[in-house]
Amino acid sequence: MRWTRYFINTLREVPADADVISQKLMMRGGMIRKVAAGIYTYLPLGLRSVQKLEAIVREEMTRAGSTELLMPAIQPAELWVESGRWQKYGKELLRIKDRHERDFVFGPTHEEVITETVRDAVSSYRQLPVNLYQIQTKFRDEVRPRFGLMRGREFIMKDAYSFHSSRESLDETYEAMRDAYGRTFRRCALDHVPVEADTGNIGGSASHEFMVLAQSGEDAVVSCPSCRYGANIEKATSRFFEDEPEPAPMTEMAPLHTPGTKTIDDVGAFLKKPTSRLVKTLVFDTENGPVMVLVRGDREGNEIKIKNFLGVNTLEMLPDTKFEAATGGPVGYCGPVGTKCKRVLADSSLKGRKDWVVGGNKPDTHIGGVNPGRDFPEPEYGDFTTVFAGDPCPRCGNKLEIHRGIEVGHVFKLGTKYSEAMNCVYLDEKGERRPMIMGCYGLGIGRTVAAAVEQSHDGDGIIWPMPIAPFEVVVTSVGREENVLATATEIYEKLQAEGIEVLFDDRDERPGVKFKDADLIGFPLRIAVGARSLANGQVEWSFRRDRAKQLGEPAAVLARVVEEVRKARTA
Ligand code: ATP
Ligand code: MG
Repeated sequence: MRWTRYFINTLREVPADADVISQKLMMRGGMIRKVAAGIYTYLPLGLRSVQKLEAIVREEMTRAGSTELLMPAIQPAELWVESGRWQKYGKELLRIKDRHERDFVFGPTHEEVITETVRDAVSSYRQLPVNLYQIQTKFRDEVRPRFGLMRGREFIMKDAYSFHSSRESLDETYEAMRDAYGRTFRRCALDHVPVEADTGNIGGSASHEFMVLAQSGEDAVVSCPSCRYGANIEKATSRFFEDEPEPAPMTEMAPLHTPGTKTIDDVGAFLKKPTSRLVKTLVFDTENGPVMVLVRGDREGNEIKIKNFLGVNTLEMLPDTKFEAATGGPVGYCGPVGTKCKRVLADSSLKGRKDWVVGGNKPDTHIGGVNPGRDFPEPEYGDFTTVFAGDPCPRCGNKLEIHRGIEVGHVFKLGTKYSEAMNCVYLDEKGERRPMIMGCYGLGIGRTVAAAVEQSHDGDGIIWPMPIAPFEVVVTSVGREENVLATATEIYEKLQAEGIEVLFDDRDERPGVKFKDADLIGFPLRIAVGARSLANGQVEWSFRRDRAKQLGEPAAVLARVVEEVRKARTA
């Protein structure tokens, strides 16, 4: 490809509303163009990277036994009514009407369409398992579209779905798909970790997210540097941290006058106790009424864990206006002794502790020497708090670390959630009807490309990993001399003949402009042909990653560059 016949428009200025580096560099490098909030055009260079990733994904999906199909982006509302998501899916779902006023959605995901497809085609256990994928444009009306391709409203996703007659069969496919994800991200040279993820309250299922570690990541990833434990922050657990030894046996309950101490820090300072020795009371409103959750004073409640434990759909902090009526205590002084809340949960880290200090359900009052079981009914214990960096790993006990991550892929054992709702059944060996057991597997194409840029760039631009670079090599002619153009053209044509993806910067531009553009776009390899070195029969070549210049005769450089590309392709 010759630059002069291609369509590249690099920008000198950083776009004003770009907030992460991948977005800035991809916009400046002429790879994407914003059309509306969260809606982008993939310009030719950007599209090449996208298509190269798609090719890798297709190879790995095929290897994992998945078959490609393509479903419609526009889906009839009836399917969503059947699955129950017409009601449940919030404002992210773009609902549209056709000319007959019939309801449709622009698909944010395709469980409904695929379940209907398989329901109609498969009736016997002999036809299972089925594993299908597509690469397709989704629409989600995200509240805050941002970060360019990382959180768009319209975006490309690879989504796969599998259907099984047994848990074992699902497990097997799940493993194969997980491996495929690992291979895909490794092939893109992405530094990533698979982590356990929350599954909501679908019973007995598993879920893993693939996280690319990067400062700009929207997710917090908990990982253990010693063993391979990794989980996202919503799901991560830790061993109980070693406590100070329990003080003397239970004392009697005694009210404490604690004026003006509405926060746990105030109480700690007032009573001269570390907050870890105090008990914090959280109260949530749910569709089944208010719930009190007791956690150690230095810990944060984890709403996802609490929600899953309760099996509720909504969980919100109880507003101050409802507080007194629901709990019987004033805001800031509420506690479990004599509370009106019907359900009281307590974090496992409190189990076995004696003489709790809790709110007294009266203004300016706490109570010390409170013991569960004796002074208020034994609470329901469970894991209700968020892990902190430094907590002991649940597997090996070493200190956990917390990093920022970009979720690029997600694999999920769905179980029978959709097949039951949509009557997707098969006949088993005994001729009995059973719901198919499902798995689903998503991978963000645009987000993965952007994540690669987040991980690999410098002050001058992108440093593409070879497998997803828009072109593997750029050949730059420096100056207008005839022999320069002739040599550059020859190198370009020979590279093409070798099957190398090469862009020939044949523009009549100053060398500085050409080199700046090449660095910004980030071609992994560059060959520069200029009059000065050519006078000695040499051309110059360099890797984008270190830009160390090397000289050699054209034929030798050509051979070397071809070798480097081939090496990187098979790495
Ligand atoms: P997030 O929590 O980041 O919103 P999600 O849990 O909604 O992601 P899934 O529904 O599991 O994501 O979608 C599968 C994959 O699609 C994600 O792992 C991600 O790579 C990609 N993806 C999801 N939402 C977006 C988006 N708004 N823009 C770009 N890619 C996205
Ligand atoms: Mg989302």
